[in-house]
Amino acid sequence: MFANPKVGEFITNTCQRCNRIVRSQLSLRSVRLTRTRLVVRDVPVDVCPQCGHMISIAPQGVEQLREAGWTK
Ligand SMILES: [Zn+2]
Repeated sequence: MFANPKVGEFITNTCQRCNRIVRSQLSLRSVRLTRTRLVVRDVPVDVCPQCGHMISIAPQGVEQLREAGWTK
């Protein structure tokens, strides 16, 4: 089990856009669900400091999206 990272924490991750390993910071963002066009606000996501690409969604954020009707 992973401990849920907290907002403001840095995570080492690979940015698919930069194609390099970056220290990304978990921050809150509005995520738009492609299927329903619903916008879920304040979702904790992992953002690349280089290009602003959303690298991944934190486990607790995935739960928020799932409640909103998002399926991966
Ligand atoms: Zn990047």
